[in-house]
Amino acid sequence: MVSTPTLSSAPDIRTDVLIVGAGPVGLFAAFEAGVIGLSCQIVDGIERPGGQCIELYPDKPIYDIPAIPSCTARDLVDRLMEQCRPFDPPMHLGQRIESLEALEDGRWRACTDQGLAFNAAAVLVAAGNGAFVPQRLMLDEAPALEGRSIHYSVADVNTFAGKNVVIAGGGDSALDWALSLLPVAQRVTLVHRRPGFSAADSSVARMHEAVAAGKMDFVVGTIGQLHAPQGRLESIDVRQIEGSARIDTDHLLVLFGLVAALGPIADWGIANPAGKIPVDTSYYESSRPGIFAAGDIAAYPNKQKLILSGFHEASLALRKAYTYAFPDKKRVHVHSSYDAKLAERIAAVHT
Ligand SMILES: Cc1cc2nc3c(=O)[nH]c(=O)nc-3n(C[C@H](O)[C@H](O)[C@H](O)COP(=O)(O)OP(=O)(O)OC[C@H]3O[C@@H](n4cnc5c(N)ncnc54)[C@H](O)[C@@H]3O)c2cc1C
Repeated sequence: MVSTPTLSSAPDIRTDVLIVGAGPVGLFAAFEAGVIGLSCQIVDGIERPGGQCIELYPDKPIYDIPAIPSCTARDLVDRLMEQCRPFDPPMHLGQRIESLEALEDGRWRACTDQGLAFNAAAVLVAAGNGAFVPQRLMLDEAPALEGRSIHYSVADVNTFAGKNVVIAGGGDSALDWALSLLPVAQRVTLVHRRPGFSAADSSVARMHEAVAAGKMDFVVGTIGQLHAPQGRLESIDVRQIEGSARIDTDHLLVLFGLVAALGPIADWGIANPAGKIPVDTSYYESSRPGIFAAGDIAAYPNKQKLILSGFHEASLALRKAYTYAFPDKKRVHVHSSYDAKLAERIAAVHT
């Protein structure tokens, strides 16, 4: 079991359930935890909730969510956020759970890569296919320049002030940053492997307007070679159908999208070689008592990677999690339609 020291001296956040992942299943789990009477904390490695729904297909319609004949993936996430609002579950976004260790009293301690630590009676892993990480530039010289001249996200816009910036990619992030950095950078060049984009039409139109007005450049091609004689990027070669173009470059912002990687979960002693967590289907508990898995990461015979399966799995897992949080209490099931406290909470957020 990997154990990472915490970077901050803040006390551990104590909770009944730690939910790893704010995809659709993690979000529904936060609501269900509230209904059952469990406090929870949610952590996700990316900056926004929604998991695959938001990262991979936000504008596609979904037709198989019970009682919602059709909604986009983004709309589903908005509805799930609205549904868990009565419990106001704390969400820690942009932080990946790195380590998980068993404590002597039977509880679990988990730490994020940003130094937050949680002390939880139970852990629900709703981590999908793993944490989303940026697709990297596959050039041998790239790793040495990462963080200084090559970036996969924008931590501070001032880094690009007065500089020659090349942005590689053709999705929403690439277009949005190309337009946002126009007033900041000395020169912005957008490089994409084809003339078409997978981004909002309005952004594409604004980009073409800026190019036509001579405010930025757009080059069709792929990043071929990086020139960094002093350990700092000076120019890049863009491979084109015929020949290549050299572009003066101080910073290269690579926005090729995100890929999922299991990452640290592989070290927690619960995942199989395929990167899934085998569970017992009575409560979707893993081989380690108190650690549960729901959604795409859970593995059992006939598993269907569907959002509705994840909702069911999370709901049952939390019922067993209750017994870890409150070993001396017997939970009495009340249908939500008869749950006066729940009705009050929901009414409170709508008044
Ligand atoms: C194109 C496409 C269309 C689809 N259409 C449908 C459909 O119509 N109907 C349907 O039911 N399903 C559909 N699916 C499948 C559905 O999206 C998944 O089943 C669902 O997203 C699984 O939800 P999840 O919450 O388990 O995982 P995810 O949505 O993958 O979310 C997991 C989250 O966990 C986070 N995470 C992982 N590891 C860590 C860590 N260590 N620390 C912190 N955070 C972490 C990730 O960053 C991610 O945000 C579709 C999938 C795709 C790709």
